[in-house]
Amino acid sequence: MSLVHLIRAKEYLGQTRATLLVLSPYGRIDPAWHAAMGSRLGLFEASIERFVKETSPAMRETLTGAMGEPEMQLTMRLLRAASEGRPIEQIDLPRQRWYETVTEGINLLREVERYSLAEVLGQAQALHDKARSEILLQRGGLLLISILLTWLAISSLQLLMQAFESVLRGARRAVGDQGQERRGKGMRDETAEITQSFNQLLDMVDNLNIKASTDPLTGALNRYGFHELASVELQRALRYHRNLAMVIADVDHFKKINDSHGHATGDRVLIELTRLIRENMRGADIFARWGGEEFIIMTPETSAEAAAQLAEKLRLLFETFRTEGLPVFSVSFGVAGFVKGDDLETLFAKADQALYRAKEAGRNRVEVFEWIEAPSETTVPSRNIRIVPDRARG
Ligand code: GH3
Ligand code: MG
Ligand code: MG
Repeated sequence: MSLVHLIRAKEYLGQTRATLLVLSPYGRIDPAWHAAMGSRLGLFEASIERFVKETSPAMRETLTGAMGEPEMQLTMRLLRAASEGRPIEQIDLPRQRWYETVTEGINLLREVERYSLAEVLGQAQALHDKARSEILLQRGGLLLISILLTWLAISSLQLLMQAFESVLRGARRAVGDQGQERRGKGMRDETAEITQSFNQLLDMVDNLNIKASTDPLTGALNRYGFHELASVELQRALRYHRNLAMVIADVDHFKKINDSHGHATGDRVLIELTRLIRENMRGADIFARWGGEEFIIMTPETSAEAAAQLAEKLRLLFETFRTEGLPVFSVSFGVAGFVKGDDLETLFAKADQALYRAKEAGRNRVEVFEWIEAPSETTVPSRNIRIVPDRARG
């Protein structure tokens, strides 16, 4: 730091001035102090020299200007004479004049110092600006890296989307829905794409749910679907003390229909039967194919008697149903009303028992479950339902 040398030079000049002031009460320097003055002056000149060597050309020029000023010239002459003990005319100046002369020299140096300081500050500012631009450059680099990372993330996302798409296609094939080919790739809105994929996934889940709970032949609910809805109804009836009944329908001698008219005709009977029941039941009723040629209807807000009326209406409908290509057929019904303590299983068992009675009584009829006083070994404890083992009907 060149400025340090200048400050030092100014300091040495100040010390020289003080020495002059203190040690020359009679206007003359005591010869004993010449050496001390000389060394101060030597240090001053060495500092100036180092400053000149290290400072900028502009500052060097400023200093040269200052050193060339008459006050500075006089100061130097005065000090040199004082340090060497030479009697020169200026040394005989009044003591006050010495002091003022050297002070002017010091002030000149102070001026140079100020310029130099300004220059140093300028350099510091430049350094600061440089550092800032480097930081900005670094930030630019970071931004570039972020953009690259984002691009990488988007590319990965695209790959993920493609993988997702192929999974979707595979899954769609698996559920038998060939669907339509997805739109071409290319410029697509990623968000819309993800949303669409999720919607498709949700649709698929819905489809799977529907497929899982629907009988493929008739389109009616299957056992699983029935169970889902019926257990909710049962809970509701229990909690709010509502009527609830169950009807089981079983096609009579269906085996014979198959045997005489073929399986396809048997299928059509099941389809027609489903349609007729659906058209004649209430919207709130839960209807399902229990299996084979057996169907089940849960009737909320309905007593066993009212459910038996529905069963009778259906029985009559089937009995009189005629359509081209289908044989005449009949259906037997078992009906049971919900009572406190029933669950789906016991309610079903009761309706099934009534159905058994209908079959036994000659088929094409409706039977309602009735409480029977049964021997204790065949009674379900606390429920008093008679379970009939090994039913005779096929
Ligand atoms: P019952 O009057 O005692 O009920 O006699 P049934 O012949 O109706 O009863 P059984 O249980 O002996 O026969 C039922 C027949 O239903 C046997 C089976 O092959 C037939 N079946 C079961 N599922 C289907 C189906 O999806 N389509 C057709 N066409 N027949 C089926
Ligand atoms: Mg049958
Ligand atoms: Mg059957």
